[in-house]
Amino acid sequence: MRYDYLVVGAGLYGAVFAYEAKKKGKTCLVVEKRNHIAGNIYCEDISDIHVHKYGAHIFHTSDKKIWDYVNQFAEFNNYINSPIARYKDELYNLPFNMNTFSKMWGITTPKEAQDIIASQIADLHITEPKNLEEQALSLVGRDVYEKLIKGYTEKQWGRDCKDLPSFIIKRLPLRFIYDNNYFNDRYQGIPIGGYTKIVEKLLEGIEVRLNTNYLEHRQELDALADKIIYTGMIDQFYDYKLGVLEYRSVRFETEELPIENYQGNAVVNYTEREVPYTRIIEHKHFEFGKQPTTIISREYSSEWKKGDEPYYPVNNDKNNALYEEYKALADKEQRVIFGGRLGGYKYYDMDKVIAAALEMCEEELN
Ligand code: UDP
Repeated sequence: MRYDYLVVGAGLYGAVFAYEAKKKGKTCLVVEKRNHIAGNIYCEDISDIHVHKYGAHIFHTSDKKIWDYVNQFAEFNNYINSPIARYKDELYNLPFNMNTFSKMWGITTPKEAQDIIASQIADLHITEPKNLEEQALSLVGRDVYEKLIKGYTEKQWGRDCKDLPSFIIKRLPLRFIYDNNYFNDRYQGIPIGGYTKIVEKLLEGIEVRLNTNYLEHRQELDALADKIIYTGMIDQFYDYKLGVLEYRSVRFETEELPIENYQGNAVVNYTEREVPYTRIIEHKHFEFGKQPTTIISREYSSEWKKGDEPYYPVNNDKNNALYEEYKALADKEQRVIFGGRLGGYKYYDMDKVIAAALEMCEEELN
């Protein structure tokens, strides 16, 4: 049997492509090295709770087209992400908003908060922030930076804030209203029934081979299809011949506790450097769960090394330059298209992954 496409990786990017290709009458074979589909949005059911096995995922987008697209495959609940930041014994609301500032400085009005921030950044003379530290300081001032950003960021990225790109911190909203919604997006929620269901629906009627490592069976798999959609690590595809791109990996320490409610919120960030994990996720709260027990995951961030799961590309100048070299090779490939967080070496959110996949489908399938 020959296929039009071999899709490497059964995550969101690959599944959207396979679904669209099938709609156009094309045949796909999806190969996946893990023993399950859905990539890092996979959820495992434990004691009736959807456990986000590879890290918490909250769907959010401002793009109506993408929102309508995912709603074909799942109904979304009304979860709004409002993480709590814990610094020593102090609790703050995120993202940085009037609740945070009021707690930090005992003030009540936006003007008071803006004046304090202005006074803290006046003597820094940052005109154009060159790195994450300068970006953060110039947005929120020294107190918020020291308590809520510096320790967390250095734990998550394993790098000094001066050596990280400023765009990472621009992911977080900053507002002078009392609003703890972590995202500015128009649409947000968690799919009812879990994320895995979405990918199951996308892949309905498509042949999927689990436990199949493409790179170990390259020749025989390549021979099965005309073209290849590759969603693994781009540097690994080329056997790291130009150098190794840096990623962050995450280790999850997951445990079930015999209590109904552990921390009262889905996400609590531990922003001080001394606590070894970055955050604790209490999975049931993403779905307003009423189960008698609860499941929590502590997240420990580490530098990726060969054999680990890659989670976050480290998009600093050095790695972006190396990625561009790999991309130049990729652009010359006649049969292979690269995509997704790993194939494109980009810190993508789920909506951006779907948008990128659909854009590629437009070019490839029409
Ligand atoms: N961040 C922070 N303090 C927090 C939460 C986030 O300084 O309590 C910074 C940190 O640099 C992080 C970035 O904001 O890498 C983006 O956070 P986000 O929650 O978007 O990361 P993700 O959920 O993708 O891991």
